[in-house]
Amino acid sequence: MSNRTFTMIKPDATKKGDTGAILDQIIKAGFAVKAMKWTKLTQEQAGLFYDIHRERPFFGELVDFMSSGPIVAAILEKDNAVEDFRTLIGATNPAQAAEGTIRKRFAASIGENAVHGSDSDENAAIEGNFFFSALERF
Ligand code: GDP
Repeated sequence: MSNRTFTMIKPDATKKGDTGAILDQIIKAGFAVKAMKWTKLTQEQAGLFYDIHRERPFFGELVDFMSSGPIVAAILEKDNAVEDFRTLIGATNPAQAAEGTIRKRFAASIGENAVHGSDSDENAAIEGNFFFSALERF
């Protein structure tokens, strides 16, 4: 079991001014920030990040959305990080997310769902490496 996961605060949330409240909930839940940046993805970068979804019908919408505004990317540390962070953010569709979860509180739809959380230790490492060099992690 790894103790790290990767997250993004997505463009819907950064645009609405929810970045601070979401980070507050993440840190109060016991996650330590090991790397963080405020950045904006190009369409090409968003497509590469979500390459696994390239054949899905929503891929075009996902790429447009994820490149539509700034994001916050971060590597987080906690025991059982991947699973605990998925619990903290809630279901992909906010309508099905548990009360109090980040997606329930801040997301509007299944597409524009406020935050990303890695779904496995392997993907957490791949996604962290997509954004951060060794010099950018503390
Ligand atoms: P996650 O692991 O909970 O983020 O969910 P998935 O890996 O299944 O999907 C990745 C991301 O694609 C989601 O977080 C959404 O932003 C987006 N997405 C998933 N399903 C849909 C959909 O039906 N429509 C649209 N527009 N976007 C979707």
